[in-house]
Amino acid sequence: MRVVRRIADLGPLDGDVGLVPTMGALHAGHEALIAAARLECDTVVVSLFVNPAQFGDPADLAAYPRDEERDLRVAEVAGADVLFAPAVEELYPPGFQTWVEVEEVARGLEGAHRPGHFRGVATICLKLFNIVRPRHAYFGQKDAQQVAVIRQLVRDLDLDVTVISVPTVRDEDGLALSSRNVLLSPAERERALALPRALATRDLDAARTELAGLEIDYVERADFDPPVLAAAIRVGSTRLIDNVVLDKEEA
Ligand code: AMP
Repeated sequence: MRVVRRIADLGPLDGDVGLVPTMGALHAGHEALIAAARLECDTVVVSLFVNPAQFGDPADLAAYPRDEERDLRVAEVAGADVLFAPAVEELYPPGFQTWVEVEEVARGLEGAHRPGHFRGVATICLKLFNIVRPRHAYFGQKDAQQVAVIRQLVRDLDLDVTVISVPTVRDEDGLALSSRNVLLSPAERERALALPRALATRDLDAARTELAGLEIDYVERADFDPPVLAAAIRVGSTRLIDNVVLDKEEA
């Protein structure tokens, strides 16, 4: 696996290229994305970039777990050919001033609670698509609204990339894998389990009941394709999101 830090050093990539954008602290969810890319693509590029533009809260950005040495090994074992891990100045050089704003689909849920988040996500994804030129790009269904935003971006700007969403990978106790889970104390993790339990009811009212007493950002049905029951909660200083895919009749 090649580790590339500069855009100029990526060079030509062979055949059909698959891109897996990540912010590192890789876990089995990321590995599932890389495995899906490995099955379908000639060259698998994993990007590792903690994108400051999608963090509203500087404390959240500072606390974001980072372990590049480990990520390198995980990405390689999972089947990546290239790990693209640029510095912040490589992607946002001094004078940077162009942003991508996806409108309606980015407004509710995460968009409502994290102003500017999807502007940062859409901008970095468009930049990565332009830099890596993938035929396929892999995203986790865990971030259902992100998938919807990226699909909209691709449609609206006529990007020549197929967006593939990969089912959410969970721990045995049901908690969706997330880089942020390492920030939870054992007691917090216990409380966090209400989130997958709530969503497993697949029912808005039942989910709200299950989450009673917790700090809830939202619990909502969202009419994405596919529709989901989605929720975000705060446990201590950690914010967790999750969703379950609903059948058309349930939505
Ligand atoms: P992140 O590093 O958190 O930005 O995530 C990078 C990609 O991995 C995103 O497309 C996420 O949706 C995806 N991802 C994160 N957690 C999971 C999970 N538990 N299952 C599947 N995909 C995931």
